[in-house]
Amino acid sequence: MLTRNKSLKILLIEDDLADATLIEDLLGSLNESLFHLETVKSLEIGLACLTAEKFDAILLDLSVSDCLGGSEAIAILKYRSPTVPILVLTDSNDEHTALSVLRSGAQDCLVKGRFQRTLLVRAIHYAIERQQVEEQLRQQAIRERLLGQMIEHIRSSIDATSILQSTVTEVRQFLKTDRVLIYRCQDWASQFDDDQKGAIVAGDGLPLGYIENQSITAALAVSCFVLVESQSVQAIADVSATGLADSSQELLANCEISAILSVPIWQSGDWETAKERLEATVFETEKNQDVPASYISGQTVDKPQAPDFRSENRNNLWGMLTAYNSCSGVREWQQWEIDFLQHLANQVAIAIEQSQLYRQLAIANKKLQELATTDGLTGIANRRQFDRVLILEWRRLAREVLPLSLIMFDIDFFKPYNDFYGHLRGDDCLRQVAEAIARSAKRAGDLTARYGGEEFAVVLPNTSAEGAKVVARKICDCIASLKLPHARSSIGSYVTLSCGIATAIPSSQLSPDTLIRSADSALYQAKNEGKNRICYASSKSKSSPILM
Ligand code: GH3
Ligand code: MG
Ligand code: MG
Repeated sequence: MLTRNKSLKILLIEDDLADATLIEDLLGSLNESLFHLETVKSLEIGLACLTAEKFDAILLDLSVSDCLGGSEAIAILKYRSPTVPILVLTDSNDEHTALSVLRSGAQDCLVKGRFQRTLLVRAIHYAIERQQVEEQLRQQAIRERLLGQMIEHIRSSIDATSILQSTVTEVRQFLKTDRVLIYRCQDWASQFDDDQKGAIVAGDGLPLGYIENQSITAALAVSCFVLVESQSVQAIADVSATGLADSSQELLANCEISAILSVPIWQSGDWETAKERLEATVFETEKNQDVPASYISGQTVDKPQAPDFRSENRNNLWGMLTAYNSCSGVREWQQWEIDFLQHLANQVAIAIEQSQLYRQLAIANKKLQELATTDGLTGIANRRQFDRVLILEWRRLAREVLPLSLIMFDIDFFKPYNDFYGHLRGDDCLRQVAEAIARSAKRAGDLTARYGGEEFAVVLPNTSAEGAKVVARKICDCIASLKLPHARSSIGSYVTLSCGIATAIPSSQLSPDTLIRSADSALYQAKNEGKNRICYASSKSKSSPILM
């Protein structure tokens, strides 16, 4: 691209009048309009000129260095005008000098008296071209680094709101536009659902009240619609000069949108598949009531196969990432700006999908954890949770040498109850009994569990035999006060419980089974003695940990 329309402004720093005249002749003689030369005698004046005016290139006589070395003079000039190419003029045809000035940042090194006008003109043009290419590469490297940082930032968060907000803030700073926003499209599939209307979900530089403004939402919905239709980027330098319908143009003008760059945020259907897989896992577990033991130990389900974000399967328009000018007016969008925004929008799409997936994952894990530890019918802890807690408390209280009490309950005449009222009423009775027991033993650390069938257990850490008796009495009274009719009970008209209590100072040499066996035999005794009563375990030997 050696032909230029405009004349080039050259700053010649040369203290030798004869040399300066020669250069002026060489450049001036070629074509009056091609070069505009400004000659100065010292570096200091040259720097002042650079501050005052814009130059296309600098010709620097190496001997004019104002007592500085050539490299330092170049460095000072580069510091003042980093993008103006410098061509060094030297008296010596010394390769070492030439290399040294090039390494200092000069674009070329010409030996005085050894060049003619064509060579000089070509050298100036090449220097300018090279400088521009270098500058473009430098800018590109800066952009790539910034883009990398932004992507890193986006990826480091799994919270969708902060991802969106940091994106708009950074894009606005980077593109130096007036406003940047992310518009969440109406879900076109459910366009009749009022909750699914489009909305601005993040914005930077937006005036107050902007997000709530209905006509703005409408204007964005219009551009969103155009995006869906065209399936492509919108880069409009001047909104008033586009082929948009008058009404749309008016809407955009009302929102002070003068130049707009909008890219789609596509979402693949992949994450939906991943979500369905997660839900299916939870459903299966719920159905089978069979949770792997790993969940008990606090482990959770692994993230399912992550959606393939590189896939081309980005088929739902999630929203738009839009940058635009309002007061700054018309703007010709550069290709790199379009590429940059689209690249970022793709990253945002990935981050949103990840975030949605993580949220679903957290919900699914919580659900699985609940399923793993609770009884499906009554909602209180299940047998597995009972076993786990009893072992933990046994060990803890063995260390602390404190008592642990266990109460076992069994509903009296429950088989006849079921036979008479049916299983559904039986289930309902179990739920009410469970709730009453849980209500009565609610000190922190107490655990009410369904032990199996119509049997319940209450674990009471750091509770003496006396304390356990009080709790058991409270529970039996509570059940009595419910007055749950029982037409087939041989001992009364209402549902009653039999209860066995055991208390021990746990020991690390024994297992908590000792406590279960003791409470169970106390319960057996209560049944044998006529039901609807509380019995206490007794220690059969001196070595037994069971307390009376
Ligand atoms: P006892 O007074 O000696 O305790 O006799 P019982 O009839 O209560 O005890 P038995 O062990 O003979 O019967 C327990 C009954 O509990 C058998 C079963 O029908 C019922 N059962 C166990 N689990 C459930 C359940 O989840 N739902 C319902 N509805 N009934 C259950
Ligand atoms: Mg039973
Ligand atoms: Mg029973």
